[in-house]
Amino acid sequence: MIKIPELVCNVCGARKEVPICCNKSMMVKDDYLLCCCSDECAYQPIPECCGQSMEYYE
Ligand SMILES: [Zn+2]
Ligand SMILES: [Zn+2]
Repeated sequence: MIKIPELVCNVCGARKEVPICCNKSMMVKDDYLLCCCSDECAYQPIPECCGQSMEYYE
């Protein structure tokens, strides 16, 4: 079974699928979402909910 990582808001409990890049879930590093394949491929801020960054759960 493949586990899909999620972004979860610690305040309201909202869940969101981690964005996909190069057919893989993006990973979190230094408060940004990165593509696993390359640092330059894709790079975006972690989505916010209730005024704070959502937390990454695997
Ligand atoms: Zn990529
Ligand atoms: Zn929220």
